[in-house]
Amino acid sequence: ADMAMYRVKRSGGNQVLHFDAAMGEPSERQQLERDLGTALSGHELRLHYQGRYSLRTSQLVGFEALLRWQHSTRGLIPPATFIPLAEETRLILPIGEWVLREACRQAAEWRCAERSLCVSVNVSALQFDLPHFVEIVRAALADSGLPARHLILEITESLVTRDLERARQHIGRLKALGVQIAMDDFGTGYSSLSMLESLPFDELKVDRSFTRHLNTERQPRVAAMLSAMIQLAQTLDMTVTVEGIEDACQHDLLRALGCDHAQGFLLARPLPPEEAVALIPAAALSPGASPAPS
Ligand code: C2E
Ligand code: MG
Ligand code: MG
Ligand code: MG
Repeated sequence: ADMAMYRVKRSGGNQVLHFDAAMGEPSERQQLERDLGTALSGHELRLHYQGRYSLRTSQLVGFEALLRWQHSTRGLIPPATFIPLAEETRLILPIGEWVLREACRQAAEWRCAERSLCVSVNVSALQFDLPHFVEIVRAALADSGLPARHLILEITESLVTRDLERARQHIGRLKALGVQIAMDDFGTGYSSLSMLESLPFDELKVDRSFTRHLNTERQPRVAAMLSAMIQLAQTLDMTVTVEGIEDACQHDLLRALGCDHAQGFLLARPLPPEEAVALIPAAALSPGASPAPS
């Protein structure tokens, strides 16, 4: 879609907003922006959870928390629409902190630690840039009781390429806390192999654009690239997750290529918590863990 620029008068003075033509008139966008300001306090934001699976054992290894906005009159608004808006208005800061706290709370309630499951949370660049971001994460873990190593923070390469030194510092401090760090959407944008080598990521999430092309005439070339990315990541001691697995062909090919984990509609869609909980196997508590409270 063509991006048009509109000069919009706002309380803080004149500001240039990027306006996606598909979203309608600027006034509509301003309205959405205003609504987003109250979405959090109005309990219109929810987290859905998508299961992540081991390709070796087929077992659930965790969940990715994905934000949903149930708008009072417009219905469900996808993150691709409102996350950019939340970033522009910096509302992503309170929203992102809520996501982190809610995901940790939910994971603790599901006793993810006793079940060897992790919860993954997407972190936007603005959050990551906060000098006290590590303290926010520490507080979310402490208040929820979730052990740090069961939290995976997903960051994107654009975030890292903004300021490699700051990224290195924050990642170092988060890892000292015990939190795991994943590089999300890898292979799109400005992927830098040296960045992959120089930062201690625990997980590499290969963007689903690769998976999609496995079903086209580009299959041999894309499979070769996936194979190389998987081997590279594993050589660097990272777990590899491939996103967007939608059919059995893709699933079997990635398993044959030695990919560790998979996420996609074939395995599980993002689900509201009351449905996602059913993905957790009934007898998954590790030996020695105390029985669930009745
Ligand atoms: P992401 O982090 O790469 O999340 C994966 C996206 O792929 C999700 O889209 C998920 O629903 C979708 N997906 C998973 N499996 C499949 C599949 O098999 N086929 C297809 N076609 N799609 C699949 P969703 O939930 O719409 O989220 C889009 C993006 O919005 C996320 O991409 C993430 O970058 C961002 N996002 C979502 N929640 C949050 C959040 O709490 N904070 C921040 N900062 N960003 C978020
Ligand atoms: Mg993600
Ligand atoms: Mg992401
Ligand atoms: Mg992704």
